[in-house]
Amino acid sequence: MKNKDIIVIISTAALSIVIIVIRAHFKTKKILANKDQLITEWTELNGPIGNQLGYPDCCIKAFCQNAPEILKVRPRTRMDKIRHKAAHINGEWSGFVPCYNHAVKVLSGEITLESLIDSNKRDKSLKKFPDENFTEEIKFQ
Ligand SMILES: [Zn+2]
Repeated sequence: MKNKDIIVIISTAALSIVIIVIRAHFKTKKILANKDQLITEWTELNGPIGNQLGYPDCCIKAFCQNAPEILKVRPRTRMDKIRHKAAHINGEWSGFVPCYNHAVKVLSGEITLESLIDSNKRDKSLKKFPDENFTEEIKFQ
């Protein structure tokens, strides 16, 4: 292979990377421009589920503010990590991600995650929390 061929290959690869980065940038801008719409749709979908599960309104609202499309493009915050950590019971993912204020109280031991579940609001056909295993763990890394 000649040096000229190597330069062409490297230039093509570099140009491809630049195009990928520019596309990702515009995709991120588009998602963030539609943030309110995404939150509305995510809330319509998940708000009723959160109520069925007996989650507090503040925690449902906090969860619904983070539609998956938004989570993909915004950097993880310290608050996200704390909420994610508080969603575990004895190291097991519970499926319930509390709001930041409740997450701090859970992690300090002031309250338990289980105590946040309103059994009067929770759908009677469901098992006692944290038995549901239908939610995949959200990775906050
Ligand atoms: Zn809460």
